[in-house]
Amino acid sequence: MSLKEKQILLDSLSGRAERVFELQSALTARRGLGPDNGGEGEQSKADYLEAWLRSFGIDDIEHVDAADDRVPSQKRPNLIVRIPGRSERMVWMLAHMDVVPAGEETLWHTDPWVVTRDRDDADLIYGRGVEDNQQALVCGCLLAAALKETGIVPDRGFGFILVSDEETGNAYGIQHLFREKPDFVSREDIVIVPDSGSSDGRFIETAEKGILWLRVVIEGSQCHASRPDEGKNALTAAAAMIMGVKDVEDEFTARNDLFAPDRSTFTPTKHEANVPNVNTMPGKEVFYIDCRVLPCYSLEEVLIAFRALADRVAEKYGVSVSVEKYMEEPAAAPTPENSAVVTLLKKAMKEVLGRECYCGGSGGSTVAVNFRERGIPAAVWALICKNCHCPNEAARLSFAVKESQVFASMLFND
Ligand SMILES: [Zn+2]
Repeated sequence: MSLKEKQILLDSLSGRAERVFELQSALTARRGLGPDNGGEGEQSKADYLEAWLRSFGIDDIEHVDAADDRVPSQKRPNLIVRIPGRSERMVWMLAHMDVVPAGEETLWHTDPWVVTRDRDDADLIYGRGVEDNQQALVCGCLLAAALKETGIVPDRGFGFILVSDEETGNAYGIQHLFREKPDFVSREDIVIVPDSGSSDGRFIETAEKGILWLRVVIEGSQCHASRPDEGKNALTAAAAMIMGVKDVEDEFTARNDLFAPDRSTFTPTKHEANVPNVNTMPGKEVFYIDCRVLPCYSLEEVLIAFRALADRVAEKYGVSVSVEKYMEEPAAAPTPENSAVVTLLKKAMKEVLGRECYCGGSGGSTVAVNFRERGIPAAVWALICKNCHCPNEAARLSFAVKESQVFASMLFND
């Protein structure tokens, strides 16, 4: 019985490319830029999605909005949608409603805020947000609507979480949701975050490196460049500090082939402007180091290693060097390869796309870490072109259909 019902559900999803186009168009038009990105927030997108879901008779929609007086609606919407199954167990899918700005608009071949089909490939669409993360929103909507339209009650319930503020720190999104509703997802449940993935769908992300951004300030003393002995050159000391970053990396010898690259990485990146003219020796330098740390190390160990380097440089060059945390996101324990979420996802992928999946890690954190750190196994997986945040962000209508079928398949036991 269940087998036949699953097939009916998968079949009902298969012809839904036009529904994907309709949803994608409406969502891109509503933007959803957070106030940190100069936008008005996600309210209009949330209102549209809620009305769309309600039009299919989906009425178990819980609001866990976060107050934010920087946006016209005064709140950042977060919604929990539940469609019950035969058991208490749920398959949760989390999608975020906010997007990043279009960036340099001249790099776009089409209007970033109007979803446009490719001239030669009718399956391909362009628009800000179509991949990140509207495809996930669309898949959740397709599946929820198909469950209502077919009247099928699957073995597991379907939970659809729509959050704000993923692109600018999560404080008004998933973090708020967990503060207000710490137990809304059970450890017996399954969580998928379709916010990263691959174009063949074979990659399942089950681990992530910790992120630590360091701000390094070197203070010497400024003087005329013709009399360098009268000052302390902060730039020379900064150069020594930058060259020492590799030595710190060499102290962290662990390797883990879940990740590519398989080591912790420490990369000097941004450098703040110093003196405006050539004939002044700079007395102050500020630069940043982006550290991606394997889960076997604590971020504190990394900070200590950089402070030791700073002390060596300070002593040798007669300057002061401070190393401060600028941003940190510790890694959670990886989701085990034999966890239910990975097993079910692999089975569903085999069934819907006939492909074998493999697990791996990534260097950047996703909202999945919020589940993993609570002991809830979560996997990041999506069938996507992989061009989020780029100009000419693209998505395939057929990918959204297939992705929703994979989620549908996960709701059934066999
Ligand atoms: Zn995203």
